[in-house]
Amino acid sequence: MNVPAPLTNLKIQYTKIFINNEWHNSVSGKKFPVINPATEEKICDVEEGDKEDVDKAVKAARQAFQIGSPWRTMDASERGRLLNKLADLMERDRLLLATMESLNGGKVYSSAYMLDLGVSVTTIRYYASWTDKIQGRTIPIDGKFFSYTRHEPVGVCGQILPWNFPLVTLVVKMAPALCCGNTVVVKPAEQTPLTTLYLASLIKEAGFPPGVVNIVPGYGPTAGAAISSHMDVDKVSFTGSTEVGLLIKQAAGKTNLKRVTLELGGKSPCIVFADADLDNAVESAHHGVFFHQGQCCIAASRLFVEESIYNEFVRRSVERAKKYTLGNPLNPGVQQGPQIDKEQYNKIIDLIESGKKEGAKLECGGGPWGDKGYFIQPTVFSDVTDDMRIAKEEIFGPVQQIMKFKTIDEVIKRANNTHYGLAAGVFTKDLDKALTVSSALQAGTVWVNCYGGGSCQAPFGGFKMSGNGREMGEYALHEYIEVKTVTVKISEKNS
Ligand code: ADP
Repeated sequence: MNVPAPLTNLKIQYTKIFINNEWHNSVSGKKFPVINPATEEKICDVEEGDKEDVDKAVKAARQAFQIGSPWRTMDASERGRLLNKLADLMERDRLLLATMESLNGGKVYSSAYMLDLGVSVTTIRYYASWTDKIQGRTIPIDGKFFSYTRHEPVGVCGQILPWNFPLVTLVVKMAPALCCGNTVVVKPAEQTPLTTLYLASLIKEAGFPPGVVNIVPGYGPTAGAAISSHMDVDKVSFTGSTEVGLLIKQAAGKTNLKRVTLELGGKSPCIVFADADLDNAVESAHHGVFFHQGQCCIAASRLFVEESIYNEFVRRSVERAKKYTLGNPLNPGVQQGPQIDKEQYNKIIDLIESGKKEGAKLECGGGPWGDKGYFIQPTVFSDVTDDMRIAKEEIFGPVQQIMKFKTIDEVIKRANNTHYGLAAGVFTKDLDKALTVSSALQAGTVWVNCYGGGSCQAPFGGFKMSGNGREMGEYALHEYIEVKTVTVKISEKNS
């Protein structure tokens, strides 16, 4: 596919709170600035939602979910038509959305156009085709009864988004929720609200009834916490740090025990055996950690390489990392943009410094890049040991850690020695080894001889402290339905 040049005259039209298919100012009158991370300049101000605005949005979502409402009485197939219409509108506005995602999120533009928009549209269409296939069962219970299950929507779903994949995570949460007939209150990350707000305008244009989708931009401890502790929100799904994931679950536990789906951090191992196709392993491991400036929960940030190929692997990985072109992600040819904000930037620099101090060998990079924007040089550390901070903590930056291993048992143990369990990679030509290792790894996703390709048809989520529940695929539907058993007394039963 040819990627057209990004828009040069992008106008930000939507900066308000979206409730009941209308645009609202914040109750407090406050706004917050949205920054371009490549230039550190302000793009615009956005209305700052807080508890009162969340209350309004939840009321609207509840109203839209009432029995007898246009949304509840709508045919399931019609929900599918509306979702497909939304996908059509996103395709129509693909150039605008990709430009906006790149400008606001520091995302390499071609990647935003191809991947973020591509995945978003495909995911909406995937769930559009599920709407009229969500069905219960008839169950042969004992006695003279007719018993069946209904798969009903959960209700009002709060959805709290991260800044690394604003549009993709919005769609991955919203599409299955709407597919099953729920209503939603979405809070985009404070750093990246713009494409979410633009999508709100497309929700309205597609013809979703008022109140089905509501969007409240704002900060985490205020608007986000108001969602997770709201007594009238039936479910919350969250993507972000494990730290905040713990707060979300506590908030649910302290209030109404709302259902919780969490997609959290990771420190994913990628294991390369000596018999692997080296070119493929180097390239995949490289993209596994450097993609989107390392700002991916699945980043392959613990790379274990078998001793006999270690030196050669390090040499090639360093050569690969040095090939990067950094710059404004909207410019052609740029392969690495800025980190999202000053806070993340400082955290990454601090971890890089800890790697140097703790004795890892800095092979390349290791510091800031450029004179404006939150850029960090692609950095590779070798001779990394498991006790170093860079081997334990999620870095969320363009920093590769390469460790050495000797035996299969040793590497499995070391790979699993973490509270996280999101993803893992294994590179080997030996099928038996690939299957043994992939079943031993404690991770929600294991890639063999590849790394990082997700798909809307396959479930995604974490073991251990990387999360609860699954997103994408048929499994995600279970997160957005309640199962109701209905049992009817009958006068006679025959087999
Ligand atoms: P990061 O540390 O990568 O910025 P966070 O986990 O802090 O990621 O943020 C992810 C999302 O969670 C954002 O939308 C943010 O506003 C929100 N958030 C942050 N703190 C809270 C909180 N206490 N309650 C609910 N949501 C929160």
